[in-house]
Formats: sequence, structure tokens, C-alpha cells
Amino acid sequence: TVTTSVGIAIYPDDGDDGAMLLKHADTAMYHAKQTGRDNVQVYRPSLTRELVQRMELDSNMRIALEQGQFHLVYQPQVDVGSGRIRSVEALIRWTHPVRGLIPPLDFIPRAEENGLIDEIGLWVLRTACAQAVQWQRAGTPAAMAVNLSPLQFRSPRLQQLVMEVLAQTSLAPGMLELEVTEGTLMESSIVTRAVLKSLNDAGIGIALDDFGTGYSSLAYLTRMPIGNIKVDKCFVGGLLEGGENEAIVRAILAIAHSLGTRVTAEGVESLEQANALAAMACDCLQGYYFSQPVAGSDIPPLLSRQWSLTEA
Ligand code: C2E
Ligand code: CA
Ligand code: CA
Repeated sequence: TVTTSVGIAIYPDDGDDGAMLLKHADTAMYHAKQTGRDNVQVYRPSLTRELVQRMELDSNMRIALEQGQFHLVYQPQVDVGSGRIRSVEALIRWTHPVRGLIPPLDFIPRAEENGLIDEIGLWVLRTACAQAVQWQRAGTPAAMAVNLSPLQFRSPRLQQLVMEVLAQTSLAPGMLELEVTEGTLMESSIVTRAVLKSLNDAGIGIALDDFGTGYSSLAYLTRMPIGNIKVDKCFVGGLLEGGENEAIVRAILAIAHSLGTRVTAEGVESLEQANALAAMACDCLQGYYFSQPVAGSDIPPLLSRQWSLTEA
């Protein structure tokens, strides 16, 4: 199927000469491609500003990798049964020398477009695994969950890279869980399934992140080796109002448990929410109520904490 993306620049507003008109038409065409292809966009000056900002972000990201401006924070995931931390999730942060702290949702999508996600993702994996080994050696072990972008599955070397990082850091595969989104499972699903399966066969856990926000296909749950479903925070936020959100969480729990899959609720911000989820037999809880994402050095003291949750 052939599609067309068209950019339009109009004389004299968008340029006095051919070169300038073509340049702006090209910028408009780029925008047409960005907005899903197969459409027409007319040039406006804000498109140039956006383009410049994007290019700046791209080159800044490259510098950030080279100069070590990224760091990881870790958020506990609490086991409902024991009230103790079961694992932690690694979350990336970027401290830009001028702009300050840039949240991941402001640069990960861009890194997925400019291709830097492979390098950033590998850095995250290596850093998180090294941190997990460091805690283990200090006598305070915690399993590590790492987010993988769907784009990382485009690399035919992903599986090999993950195994290499485990070998280099000497982290046991059972101490690592990879969080993937439904988008990952939809793209080239035969290859992805094979990669996930062999990672899982090696002992690495696979979690399905943000469940309930996308297609929430039940087929994935049976076809893919998913050991943990993470219920998106939007359902937890509205849980206590009852109604739809509660019904959805109960339904996810029922399906997951009948398939033998663990369920983690994200975005737990209050004791009331935690208790309600415990009463529904949710396996694991994560959210500001237990802890914000914190520096690696703040995790060991939290490991001795026990939260009391009432399951009725
Ligand atoms: P996510 O994987 O769903 O991560 C959970 C997000 O929810 C985190 O946002 C976390 O700080 C936030 N959160 C935790 N507890 C609560 C709570 O109680 N209430 C609310 N409202 N939010 C809570 P963060 O760190 O800003 O990350 C946002 C997203 O960026 C992540 O969503 C993930 O999709 C992506 N991301 C973060 N780090 C990485 C990474 O290393 N690699 C990739 N590929 N993506 C990452
Ligand atoms: Ca996640
Ligand atoms: Ca999530």
C-alpha cells in the first residue's frame, strides 16, 4: 500500500524564495508523517520551533548518555501476604544541566523515535542489575524490575544483550523481571514471543505493564509467558468509588489468578486503597503510600519494614 504525506508552504507568508518555501514545505511534510502519515499539513512557524526543540532534545540526550546525566530511582513493590518488599522497579531520571529534572515521559518517547532507546535501555538494564548485585552483596537482596520499550524488541540482539548483562553483573536471572507493555506484544508478535519465551526459560520474570489501558487482549495472557500483570494506576485511583474501576480490577484479578498469574496494583496512594486491594486478594502493591521512587542507597533500610494490611 502506498500512502502520501503532503506538506504545503505558501508564498509569500512562508518564504520569499524557492529554497525557503521548499524547506518549510518539507517541515510541514515531516509533521504530516509525525501525525500518522497519509495526510496533508500546512506550514506554520510553530512547526519550525517544535522541530528545533526536538533536534535540541536529541543532541542533548546523546550528550546526557556520554556525560552520565541519567540516573535510576527505585520504587518498592510490596507483597500483600508478608507486608514486605518483594522487588523494586527501576525508573530513569534525567538531570539536565540547564533544564533540571526531565521526567521520563518527556524524553523516552523521543528516544524511541531517534533510536537512542536501545542505548538508554541497555544502560538502564546494566545499572539496575549492578545495583541489585550491590544490595545482594551487602546482605540486603531485592529483586529488580526493569522497563523495556517495545522498540527494544526490534533489535535482534535483545535476548543476547540481556543475558550478557546478567553474566557481566553476575545477577541471577531469577532476580530480574522485565516489564513490557501490550504494544510490545502486538508488534511482530512471533519474534517477540520467541524472545520473551527464551528469556523466561532462562529464569527471567516477565510482567505486563499498564494492563487495562490498551487492548487488554486476553490472548496475550495465554500465549505469552507472563508471570505478573500490573494493573494500571488509573483503575486504582478510582477504586474506592466502587463502580466500573472496582469491577475491572476484580475481573483482572479473577482472570489472572485462574491463569496462575500474579497481579500487582500500581499507583496505590492510601491505606484505604491498599486494604481494599488486599481484600480483593491482589498479590503485590506499588505506589506513593509505600514509597516514592528513591535513590538506591535508600532501599536497604526500607527492606526491613513491614506494612500491616488488613485483608478483610
Ligand atoms: P510506569 O512503568 O508505569 O512507571 C510507574 C510510574 O508511576 C512512575 O512514573 C512512578 O513514579 C509513578 N508512580 C508510582 N507510584 C505512584 C502513585 O502512587 N501515584 C501516581 N500518580 N504515580 C505513581 P515515572 O517514573 O515518571 O515514569 C513514567 C513512565 O516512564 C513509566 O511508567 C515508564 O513507562 C517510563 N519509564 C520510566 N523509566 C523507564 C526506563 O528505564 N525505560 C523505559 N523504556 N521506560 C521507562
Ligand atoms: Ca513499569
Ligand atoms: Ca505501569
